[in-house]
Amino acid sequence: MAERRFPVCCYCGACAAFIDFKKYKEEEVVFDKGCGGGTASEGFCFSFCPRSFAACRLCEGDCPRTEVCDFSPRASSPEKRILGHYKEIISARAREEGVREAGQDGGAVTAMLCEALERGFIDAAVVAVRTEDWKAEPFVATTPEEVLRGVGSKYTACPSVLGVWEAIDRGYENIAMVGTGCNIEAVRRLQALHDPALELDRVKVLIGLFCTEALWHRDFVAFLAERGINIKDVERFCVSKGKFVVVTKDKELSIPTKELEPCVRATCKICEDFTAQLADVSAGSSGSPDGYTSLIIRTKAGEELVSVSRSAIETKKMDDAGIKKIERLAFNKKMRNYGMILDQMGICSACLTNPYFFTLQTGD
Ligand SMILES: Cc1cc2nc3c(=O)[nH]c(=O)nc-3n(C[C@H](O)[C@H](O)[C@H](O)COP(=O)(O)OP(=O)(O)OC[C@H]3O[C@@H](n4cnc5c(N)ncnc54)[C@H](O)[C@@H]3O)c2cc1C
Ligand code: SF4
Ligand code: SF4
Repeated sequence: MAERRFPVCCYCGACAAFIDFKKYKEEEVVFDKGCGGGTASEGFCFSFCPRSFAACRLCEGDCPRTEVCDFSPRASSPEKRILGHYKEIISARAREEGVREAGQDGGAVTAMLCEALERGFIDAAVVAVRTEDWKAEPFVATTPEEVLRGVGSKYTACPSVLGVWEAIDRGYENIAMVGTGCNIEAVRRLQALHDPALELDRVKVLIGLFCTEALWHRDFVAFLAERGINIKDVERFCVSKGKFVVVTKDKELSIPTKELEPCVRATCKICEDFTAQLADVSAGSSGSPDGYTSLIIRTKAGEELVSVSRSAIETKKMDDAGIKKIERLAFNKKMRNYGMILDQMGICSACLTNPYFFTLQTGD
């Protein structure tokens, strides 16, 4: 069978985790044997692939997660439709200086996971570690020291759901996962299947990261090489005031984020989710002062996580200007990318009756 591609795969890891014969090549799913239909067209994978755009209506209102579901009438105010359902938005940072300095923003995500493990709230945390050349890989951390191995943002996609599968397989009962919105959506869709065999009730809490876009690893390596940087020499990446900053041992390069456009994954151009709307807690830098992480606390599980880790984080209320900034960024992403969704599918905006449907591209 010819190898087939799914061009809008966001490399969340869900299909390789929960369906044996799905494999990845160059950070994308490939179908090379045994698969009759394929993700986003039909079958089991259709029900949970975050790019099947099937929308989570499988539960018919009986889903225990409706609290965070986009289709829930609870997300009724315009603000909540932009940011998803939430209870509270705060700024937080790790109390421990070392975690704060190592963390991408305030180190709050790492601090919360370390404390949640220490206190037995969770027994495993799926984080993203990196290879020498900054490929993001899922890692099941079971101690605070292991959580620290994942500190900091990797701006390429991480198949984090594979880590969830590994944690379940290794017998952990209270699992946390950190991931971008697409990772979170894949887990929520899997949970909405209510299949006891998948054992997804062992996922206790999902921390979603704010996300504008992720980069193709291969293109990003080449992009940096053209600017005289070997990715293996990079110590840290960050985004600040519209610039993508690359820090190596002996230099710092500030690149306008627009220049990275050719490296952006195709799937991110049709993604509407800036704040990881289906997470229990979402985390990002936008909206908070430098050195702090913004936390959108959405669910009871999210509240519990923040509450058990209070001794590891300092928190303060986010002011209205901060919240408005997050809303603006989330709204802009939805508007920008909604147009791309319609374009890509050739759907006229006057006629939205066509269910979102992507066909597989074959190499034939
Ligand atoms: C691809 C990407 C794009 C982002 N874009 C934005 C943005 O536009 N605006 C914004 O405000 N914030 C964005 N963020 C979030 C931001 O970079 C920080 O992750 C967030 O503010 C938390 O900071 P922290 O100091 O608390 O995190 P830390 O304490 O450093 O913890 C970060 C956690 O995220 C995990 N992680 C890192 N990279 C990945 C990855 N690729 N996939 C899954 N998990 C990962 C780490 O393993 C770690 O557990 C983005 C993050 C990523 C990964
Ligand atoms: S988006 Fe996730 S579930 Fe869908 S094809 Fe890609 S890896 Fe598989
Ligand atoms: S922009 Fe959307 S699809 Fe791309 S990595 Fe972020 S959450 Fe996933």
